Amino acid sequence: MTIPTNLLGLSPAEMKTALLDAGVESKSVSMRVKQLWNWIYVHGARDFAQMTNLAKDFRALLEGKFTLARPQIVTEQISNDGTRKWLLRSGGQEFETVYIPESDRGTLCVSSQVGCTLNCRFCHTGTQKMVRNLTPDEILGQLFVARDSLGDWPSTAPGRKVTNIVMMGMGEPLYNFDNVKAALAIVMDGDGLALSKRRVTLSTAGVVPMIQRAGDEIGSSLAISLHAVRDEVRDVIVPINKKYKIAELLDACRAYPGASNARRITFEYVMLKGVNDSLTDAKALVKLLKGIPAKINLIPFNPWPGAPYECSDWEQIEKFAEVVNRAGYASPVRTPRGRDIMAACGQLKSESVKLKAKDRIAEMEASRLAQMPG
Ligand code: SAH
Repeated sequence: MTIPTNLLGLSPAEMKTALLDAGVESKSVSMRVKQLWNWIYVHGARDFAQMTNLAKDFRALLEGKFTLARPQIVTEQISNDGTRKWLLRSGGQEFETVYIPESDRGTLCVSSQVGCTLNCRFCHTGTQKMVRNLTPDEILGQLFVARDSLGDWPSTAPGRKVTNIVMMGMGEPLYNFDNVKAALAIVMDGDGLALSKRRVTLSTAGVVPMIQRAGDEIGSSLAISLHAVRDEVRDVIVPINKKYKIAELLDACRAYPGASNARRITFEYVMLKGVNDSLTDAKALVKLLKGIPAKINLIPFNPWPGAPYECSDWEQIEKFAEVVNRAGYASPVRTPRGRDIMAACGQLKSESVKLKAKDRIAEMEASRLAQMPG
């Protein structure tokens, strides 16, 4: 028995090859890709039977060989502020996705890895060992789960609930470059999900050698998890800083393709009591960012069990924000969302652990079989 291929996450060229391999005639294959693309990414089709403008025998062929499988929903939690968090399962591993509704937009916070390699000291995900990279269909699948659950299809209709995507869930997207690139290409494809590159933000803790490539090849908006203005402090709280120093990181930002005053780079700065929240730090922050088209996002630290830090006092955050405001950066404090369901920045974590190779293969087989029709 052959295991069906998931069409989600394939590029148009890959979909074409998959259809040809399945026996679709070469003269009609480009049209078939277009039709499928529209059903999958504009209409969010969940099965082939729905695709009523396709010939019955073509649908039958698709049904035997392909799926439109989403990750499985393990739990869905809804915060008292309307934030939703889904724990998802795919290929034997679990990861989280968060939807944050606001008055003028709805943002989906998407994971790129199960676990993380970075070990940032204030981040809950950092306490989970790296398990594996998510595949393009698993990254995109997070958006599908959200749209399915929110009744948010078709993609092209006005008033969509998910209007923005931030790669700010579990993991470091620039350490899973190819899969993130493949997924975001589909997210930003004008004939499909059609989110504009202004509405898609990739956040990195500072994988400096990949920043230029991200700009050239992905082209989304960029956010940097800066969190400290001195290397001694950043070395401790964002350990990747030991490899790529603040000055190098900011040089990469200055060179980021597409950054301009109309399209600023977001600098995230988590407020940790007594660690990085002095007014001297605030002044240094403003000075460091001089000449870079920047937005500053101050993030009150979100606590998690056993965290070695506390959130700065509100008064201190306000004073810090005032320095930043006076330097010309508007309303920079991010309101914590979904804290009650552990869905706020840096609170995501799953129980997944790295399996031995043979157990991993068995898990993947089992979950693919579970996704098969019938
Ligand atoms: N690895 C990427 C993507 C994760 S983004 C990156 O670091 O940018 C998640 C954001 O939440 C980052 O800015 C991270 O530094 C921040 N964060 C992590 N833990 C946090 C916490 N406990 N409270 C507030 N923000 C946190």
